Amino acid sequence: MAKIRQETEAAIHEANARLNQAERDRAQVLHLQNTFRLSWVPDELVNCCSNYKCRAPFTQTRRRHHCRCCGRVFCHNCTDQSAPIPAFGYNQNVRVCNPCFALLDEMFCEEPIAYTDPT
Ligand SMILES: [Zn+2]
Ligand SMILES: [Zn+2]
Repeated sequence: MAKIRQETEAAIHEANARLNQAERDRAQVLHLQNTFRLSWVPDELVNCCSNYKCRAPFTQTRRRHHCRCCGRVFCHNCTDQSAPIPAFGYNQNVRVCNPCFALLDEMFCEEPIAYTDPT
C-alpha cells in the first residue's frame, strides 16, 4: 500500500512540475513577444507580399499566409519554410517566412536585442 501512495505522490509532484514549466514557458513567450513587438498583421491591411524583394499582389489564387514568427503576411512562395519556434510555444513545425527562417537561429540563441525608439 505504501508503495502505491508513494507513486501517487510522485505523479502529483511531476504534474505540478510540468505545470510550473508551462507557466514559465508562457511567461517567456509573452516576454519575447513584447521584446520583439510582435503583432499579427490583419489581412485587410496588406494587399501585397511583405517580402520587399517580392511584393506580389494578393489575388483570388495567390492567398495570404501569416508568418508565425514575425506576424507579417506573405505570399505562398515566401512562406514555404517551416520550423518549430519553442520560444513562442510552437514545438512543431509552423509556417515561417523566408527572412525569419534565415534569422531563427540567431534570434533565439542569443540574448534578444533591446528595442530602442529612435527619438
Ligand atoms: Zn516572418
Ligand atoms: Zn512573396
